[in-house]
Amino acid sequence: MSISKINPEPAPAAPTQSNFIRDHMIEDLKTNKHGGRIWTRFPPEPNGYLHIGHAKAICLDFGLADEFGGGTNLRFDDTNPEKEETEYVESIQEDVRWLGFEWENLLYASDYFDQLYEWAVQLIKKGKAYVDDLSADEIRQYRGTLTEPGKESPHRNRSVEENLDLFARMKAGEFPDGSRCLRAKIDMASPNLNMRDPVMYRILRKPHHRTGDKWCIYPLYDYAHGQSDSLEQITHSMCTLEFEDHRPLYNWFIKELDIFPSQQFEFDRLSLTYTLLSKRKLLQLVRDRHVRGWDDPRMPTISGIRRRGYTPEALRTFVANIGVSKTQGTLELAMLEHFVRDDLNERALRVMAVLKPLKLVIDNYPEGQAEEMDAINNPENPSAGTRKVPFSRVLYIEQDDFREVPPKGYFRLSPGKEVRLRYGYFVTAQSVVKNAQGEVVEVHATYDPGTRGGNAPDGRKVKSTIHWVSAAHAMDAEVRLYDNLFSNPNPNDVPEGKDFTANLNPNSLEIVANAKLEPSLKNARAGDRFQFERLGYFCVDPDTTPEKLVFNRTVALKDTWTKVEKKNA
Ligand code: ATP
Ligand code: MG
Repeated sequence: MSISKINPEPAPAAPTQSNFIRDHMIEDLKTNKHGGRIWTRFPPEPNGYLHIGHAKAICLDFGLADEFGGGTNLRFDDTNPEKEETEYVESIQEDVRWLGFEWENLLYASDYFDQLYEWAVQLIKKGKAYVDDLSADEIRQYRGTLTEPGKESPHRNRSVEENLDLFARMKAGEFPDGSRCLRAKIDMASPNLNMRDPVMYRILRKPHHRTGDKWCIYPLYDYAHGQSDSLEQITHSMCTLEFEDHRPLYNWFIKELDIFPSQQFEFDRLSLTYTLLSKRKLLQLVRDRHVRGWDDPRMPTISGIRRRGYTPEALRTFVANIGVSKTQGTLELAMLEHFVRDDLNERALRVMAVLKPLKLVIDNYPEGQAEEMDAINNPENPSAGTRKVPFSRVLYIEQDDFREVPPKGYFRLSPGKEVRLRYGYFVTAQSVVKNAQGEVVEVHATYDPGTRGGNAPDGRKVKSTIHWVSAAHAMDAEVRLYDNLFSNPNPNDVPEGKDFTANLNPNSLEIVANAKLEPSLKNARAGDRFQFERLGYFCVDPDTTPEKLVFNRTVALKDTWTKVEKKNA
């Protein structure tokens, strides 16, 4: 029997483009490496909430393992007790599940502390690790630069016995924080700085969220990561490009310890215009209250975009489409929004809502009368059915949909002009009522009773259809409109002496306090998504109470009018 029959090449999932990591997996299956087993891990450090960049990593880790019948571990990389919190551990699990993935094992790097310690002792015994008394600063100075080799520490050639004794005493808490460390003995002249005797353990008296006070020495990422992969028999360990230079070290530990040979693959970090994807900087935005929290709908966190109304499907499609590469680039935020719009177009029910209400009084419509108009819930999906929308003499329309003096190319309502009210009648504006400031506060119009449902029996056409809400039946709502959190496409591009907060967009949030909604929305629940016709996609915010509906604008529809307006200007 041929090898390819033992491990038949799986059918590629339709929407997934192949990429070098996937190709590698296919090759490994062909050669029956690891007995046809594909196992990955997603290894977040619980020091913040996950962001859209992590969504890319999650889709790759879980998506590829799923495709090849393997599994994925969720492993918290909790080797640094200084910044880690249980709140983050919980939010990360919620976010991974929301994206639609389920891990095979929930693990913590801290569960391996005993094993990692034993392995360190083993390396000391092999003469491959030593205790150094240099300070962190001195170690940095001794390390050299890209053009100059490093210098060996005076403690590098301690005997195995002395190293074993000192390392045991480091663990026992005999030395102050930072006074000693354990280093791998590799090559101070290596062209790769990561190979110049990297630090494996440091002394740090900080309680750990899982191991409490048990340890006062903690392993560093490079020493913990590959061995954690190996312990879990991870076959393909994916991470972002900045770890490429760490791969020789990853392989060195595995080889010296002679343990399961996990293999590391690096891919390009997701980077988007107008967006920061760094937990450290996102934490700063939260701490300094530039945003309302990690789940502020302007945040690029998974919890933020969830609250904003993005769907997991849209995110997964986006990731499948952007591909995986070995070169770093920045994608347009508009591209992500495109996938969100595309997905919501399929699933969001249409409703009518008026954000900036202007009263429209239909003078020839009988006072006290109301009709139920039939409205289509989703033209993309006939099975979504229809609903009734009440129509009456006094309506709200958008202020923007009326101009007393229409500019060139403006086809919406203006005196003497006829337009269609969506699912209603044709109306013609006749006159206006103004307030003391001279602003139009009410438009009076007449309607043609023969145009019910939106078509004229004589076949005459109108150039525009506008939405409306019946004033007597309307529900009040607060609507939060979002713009980019940063005004600069590259938020890190700042003048000397300033930080990225200098690029915060002061208009990233606009609160519309008195929007009017059609009454069918009275049962809307937090998380429900709708298209407000002609305005965009909106999602019910958890701040909603029985008294007050609150909506977030997820994404606007393509706005052709602004383009026309700009062109005219
Ligand atoms: P940050 O810089 O935001 O803190 P990180 O890389 O330190 O990110 P981790 O929690 O260590 O965050 O990341 C878990 C996994 O997610 C890693 O494999 C990491 O490479 C990946 N990842 C992080 N940011 C991105 C991104 N922007 N695009 C793709 N993958 C990412
Ligand atoms: Mg990190």
